[in-house]
Amino acid sequence: MSLTSLLKLNLRSLILLLAVVSVLITLGNSFYATYKVQRDLLISNTLEANRVYAAKLAEMTDVFLESAQDQLAYSAGLLGSQMDDDAALMNEARRLHKQTNSFNSVVIVNQDAVIVATSPETLEVKGLTLTSPSARQSLEAKKALITDPFVSPAGNYLISISHPIMSKGGRYLGYIAGTIYLQEGNILNRILGKHYYHDGSYIYVTDPNKTLIYHPDKQRIGQQIANNAAIDEVLAGTEYALATVNSQGIDMLAGFAPITKSSWGVVAQRPRSSTLEGLDGHISAVFMKSVPLVLFTLAGIWLSAIFISRPLWQLASNARLMDRQEVQENISGIHGWYFEVAELKRAILKGMGLLNDKISKLHTDSHTDAMTSLLNRRGMQQVLDSYQKQLQPFSIITLDIDHFKQVNDTHGHDVGDKVIQALAGLMKTHARKGDALCRSGGEEFMIFLPGIDLTIANDIAERLRLQVADFEMPTAGFITISLGIAYWSGENHSINDTLKRADKALYQAKQQGRNRSVMTESI
Ligand code: GH3
Ligand code: MG
Ligand code: MG
Repeated sequence: MSLTSLLKLNLRSLILLLAVVSVLITLGNSFYATYKVQRDLLISNTLEANRVYAAKLAEMTDVFLESAQDQLAYSAGLLGSQMDDDAALMNEARRLHKQTNSFNSVVIVNQDAVIVATSPETLEVKGLTLTSPSARQSLEAKKALITDPFVSPAGNYLISISHPIMSKGGRYLGYIAGTIYLQEGNILNRILGKHYYHDGSYIYVTDPNKTLIYHPDKQRIGQQIANNAAIDEVLAGTEYALATVNSQGIDMLAGFAPITKSSWGVVAQRPRSSTLEGLDGHISAVFMKSVPLVLFTLAGIWLSAIFISRPLWQLASNARLMDRQEVQENISGIHGWYFEVAELKRAILKGMGLLNDKISKLHTDSHTDAMTSLLNRRGMQQVLDSYQKQLQPFSIITLDIDHFKQVNDTHGHDVGDKVIQALAGLMKTHARKGDALCRSGGEEFMIFLPGIDLTIANDIAERLRLQVADFEMPTAGFITISLGIAYWSGENHSINDTLKRADKALYQAKQQGRNRSVMTESI
């Protein structure tokens, strides 16, 4: 088998290759699709969960702020007539601070910006005058207010929720404020802090100036955040969810909702990476689960490939060896169980049949004399070769028409031909099965008689001679023949010698007057 034919792909490999490639593409595609669908689902679920969570927290914060403002309004109502009563102011500040637990501290400020009461009293800011613009926001507004974050005179970073105190006559007397310390434990922590941090998610709250007023990382409280789409949207009053990049450059899935009371925004978000963390493992599990079926499918394809390709492969490998004898039989034995093989098999067998007929006809033609259909010299040689090979003893009769030139001269060449044909016919009529008849040239013939000894051969020669002499040839009339007989015993003697002796015997027959048989001695 040559290298190129080894390298040439066969049908089985092609089917297998095609199947394996298809299986791999299909698998890869379905894994990719599963991955994509699962990923999109995880992302959209996380976005929606964050939006809902942010909305819930915003609502809770709103409720808190509303109740805080109600409480402050109630206190402010009480204090309208007690601004000069130090003890009453202190009592109300303490009551509001202790009873509600909503505020880190409560302060009462009069219209001159002087802190007139605080709870807890440990703040030691009573009597101080507020000077910084951010501390004076409530004073300036003269209405219920939630301030921006600022640093209080006591040094706390806070926001304050305030309500104006009015006299019965409607005069502005100052305000009462509850504060929320942004960097310490506060009510916002309690409302917002219970969050599922373990999955990487967290929430934060920003004020209208994009300043963080709540963040699980306390260091970040007070930071102003720029370029954050979620913050931009939520401060514009939108409740929504989107994939965004946070200020630290991390991909986030953020849901957000505005807190209407304070114009703050709550953002609940989870890093995209932690959301998708389990997905690879999930896809691997899907892969591992599908491996047995894939292997089973591939094995099935492999067996089918063998089953489908085998008859074609058998046809092809036999067709390559068309010159071998057993090929026709092999091809007949191939099971053509589907259309193409059945048809190819039929066509090849038919082609081989025609080819064999043609070859055998060519063989016959090349070994046969066209005029008489007897063997020619090549055919004769083949017969002799086979006797030689099998050491088959035989007798040989050589014969020649007497005075044939006269036939030609008298009746013409065509009549001569007819005589030659008629003589061949007579020889065939009297030949036995197994005898080989040969036109050795012109009007000379040889008869090989396998297994016949010299005496019997002589009898046969005589019988033929007499029959020819009795037979009236077309146009030419009666002719005679002379015959020489020899024998080959099949032992270590040359067949050529035997032929020569038969020729010699024929020559003698001619010499002795023609129309007779002469046999050599047996050797
Ligand atoms: P002899 O008795 O000695 O054999 O005399 P003969 O005339 O037969 O002599 P020979 O055998 O030598 O002559 C052969 C002649 O046969 C010569 C040739 O013209 C003729 N001949 C050979 N082949 C053919 C043939 O195919 N057709 C015809 N018509 N004549 C042939
Ligand atoms: Mg002759
Ligand atoms: Mg002759």
